[in-house]
Amino acid sequence: MSPPAADLSPGFAHRHILGIEGMSPADITALLDLSEAYVEQNRAHEKKSSLLRGRTVINLFFENSTRTRTSFELAGKRLGGDVINMSAESSSVKKGETLIDTAMTLNAMLPDVLVVRHPDSGAVKLLSEKVACAVINAGDGTHEHPTQALLDALAIRRRRGRLAGLQVAVCGDILHSRVARSNIHLLGAMGARVRVVGPPTLIPSAIERMGVEVFHDMRAGIAGCDIVMMLRLQTERMQGSFVPSVREYFHFYGLDREKLAAAKPDALVMHPGPMNRGVEIDSDLADDIDRSLIREQVEMGVAVRMACLDLLTRSLRSNAGGAA
Ligand code: ASP
Repeated sequence: MSPPAADLSPGFAHRHILGIEGMSPADITALLDLSEAYVEQNRAHEKKSSLLRGRTVINLFFENSTRTRTSFELAGKRLGGDVINMSAESSSVKKGETLIDTAMTLNAMLPDVLVVRHPDSGAVKLLSEKVACAVINAGDGTHEHPTQALLDALAIRRRRGRLAGLQVAVCGDILHSRVARSNIHLLGAMGARVRVVGPPTLIPSAIERMGVEVFHDMRAGIAGCDIVMMLRLQTERMQGSFVPSVREYFHFYGLDREKLAAAKPDALVMHPGPMNRGVEIDSDLADDIDRSLIREQVEMGVAVRMACLDLLTRSLRSNAGGAA
C-alpha cells in the first residue's frame, strides 16, 4: 500500500513529541489530518506500507501498558519499520541502571525513534535531551500523554466533524491524570470549552489557570455537554485515601445512564482505558456503541501513532534522499 501524500505537514517543525503544550493548532491539525489517511490504510485489506523500511523504533516502557505499547508496536510495523519492545521489568533497570544510562545504551544502537513511558513527570523530556534520535512521550507520570489526547481528538472530530465550540467534561481523577492534562491543552488550543468534574480531593488546586471550569457535582458538570470523558481512579499513584469507598465514588461520580441524561441527548462517552467497570463507568454504558466512543478511541490510537512516527521521521527520509 502506498503511503499517504507527503504534503500534509508543511509547518510541523518538532524533533520530538513530548507534550501537547507548545503545539500549535496547525501542528495538531496536521497530525489529525495525516492520521485520517492512516485510518484508511488500517481499514484496507493490505495494511502495511514500507515508509519506515530500514528504520528502528524502540518502545521503552518503565510502566505497565496494554493499549499504548501495542498500538505503537502495530503502528511501527504497519509502516514497515523494525520495532523492539523493552520493558523495565525485563531490563537492566532492575539491576539498578539509571534512566540516562539505559537511554545512552539504547542510543548507541542508533534507533530512529524512542517511544518512552515513565512514572516520573519530566523524565521523557530529560531523556530526549541525551539521545540523538526522535523521542515520543508515551506518558510521563501525571504530566502528559500527547498521543492519547490526539487520538481522543481524532475520535471526536470524526464523529462531530469539529472540535471548536464543543463542550467537553473531563471527569474523575484529574489530579493523577496525564490524559486530562494533555486533553485540556489540546481541546483548549482547538477552541473547545473544557470542564473538569470530580471530588475536591481529585482536582488539582489552581487548575482554573489552564482555562477550565471546575465542578464538584457530576450532574451540574456534565449538563449540556457534547462529550463526557471519564478517567480511571489511578490508585497506583495515590498515597493515602482520596475517596471514601469505591461504592460511594460510583454513587457520586460514576457515569451511568441516569447521570448522562444531564448531558446533551446525543452526548458521547469516552474513556482512555483501562476501565474500572462499576467504579468510574457503568459497564453497560461503556459497551453501548451508540453512546460510547471507547472502541473507536483504540482504533484511532494506531492511526495517530503512525502519523507521529511518519512526521518525526520525514526529515530523516528526506536527508537520506529516500522516498517519503
Ligand atoms: N492509559 C492511560 C495512561 O496511561 C490512562 C490510565 O492509565 O488510566 O495514562
